Amino acid sequence: MSDTSIEFAVPLKGIPETAVIQSNLPVYTPQQREEKIANIKRLLKQENAVLVAHYYTNEDLQMIAEDTGGYVSDSLEMARFGNRHPATTLIVAGVRFMGETAKILNPEKRVLMPTLEATCSLDLGCPAKEFSEFCDRYPDHEVVVYANTSAEVKARADWVVTSSIAVKVVSHLMDQDKKILWAPDRHLGRYIEKVTGADMVIWQGACIVHEEFKARALGELMEQHPDAGILVHPESPAAVIDVADVVGSTTALIKAAKELPHKKFIVATDNRIFYKMKQEAPNKIFIEAPTAGEGATCKSCAHCPWMAMNGLHNLEAVLVSGENEIFVDEDIRQKAYRSTSRMLDFVAH
Ligand code: SF4
Repeated sequence: MSDTSIEFAVPLKGIPETAVIQSNLPVYTPQQREEKIANIKRLLKQENAVLVAHYYTNEDLQMIAEDTGGYVSDSLEMARFGNRHPATTLIVAGVRFMGETAKILNPEKRVLMPTLEATCSLDLGCPAKEFSEFCDRYPDHEVVVYANTSAEVKARADWVVTSSIAVKVVSHLMDQDKKILWAPDRHLGRYIEKVTGADMVIWQGACIVHEEFKARALGELMEQHPDAGILVHPESPAAVIDVADVVGSTTALIKAAKELPHKKFIVATDNRIFYKMKQEAPNKIFIEAPTAGEGATCKSCAHCPWMAMNGLHNLEAVLVSGENEIFVDEDIRQKAYRSTSRMLDFVAH
């Protein structure tokens, strides 16, 4: 850890467990499921709406997005797609900060989400007021925040980045001799430091899903599957990252699953990504990295409890009711737009 890192623990209360969320979701017969899907497709057309879904959401939602001209992707590509698509309503299936990012970039569009309760431990663990005070202690630092933050935190930042371009942006800032403050994911922060050689001030947040991956149990699984490639998201603990063949964003991991010669992969990220990986590499085998083992709690069991809140039932409901609209205060939005659009401009050049 960097000498300049600061231990700052924001207690997170009331984190739901994936198993509890899933046991409360409606269960449909095959025929009911087909009817729901058909109705959602009809409603999307009727409402001039497009569905943008994250890789970590339910497979049915990913399939509907693909079938109806929408998009399935990581948070960077979700933001870029929503920005260029002509639909007047964006339905964002994912977690709260993704809907807010869509609104920040598209203030003229109606942005709806299947649920407004779906949040993220990184967002929860980085409250705007405390974060702003933290930044005030480092006035000469460039503030770089991960996309998994609230609109208010983005408004306080100089840069917003996703995991797919974080390393490039930090390298770019280092070339300009900038001092860097990073928030909120400590594991991704440390990984960026390791790759770039940066010495950053790091906010101590974590993803409750990726933090559960266990290095020792992973080592045992690797012994059972010595021919497997290891794909790891950089929000995972350093000991898990250290054994990876590829460390990268969800999009980078899907690309690696397709392009690497391995026939089998152990994957340390949310297991709903397997939908896309199997689509891209249908003859390969994908195994979940263990969240069990020493010190394990398996609260998430490799699936984000907030992503799990998105289902056919609330997607259909929001299309019927028009509720769950995302609003962002205009002053906050304009400030957050500056730091977020900077990321899109950086990617474009
Ligand atoms: S998987 Fe982790 S980073 Fe992604 S939304 Fe869930 S808690 Fe947040």
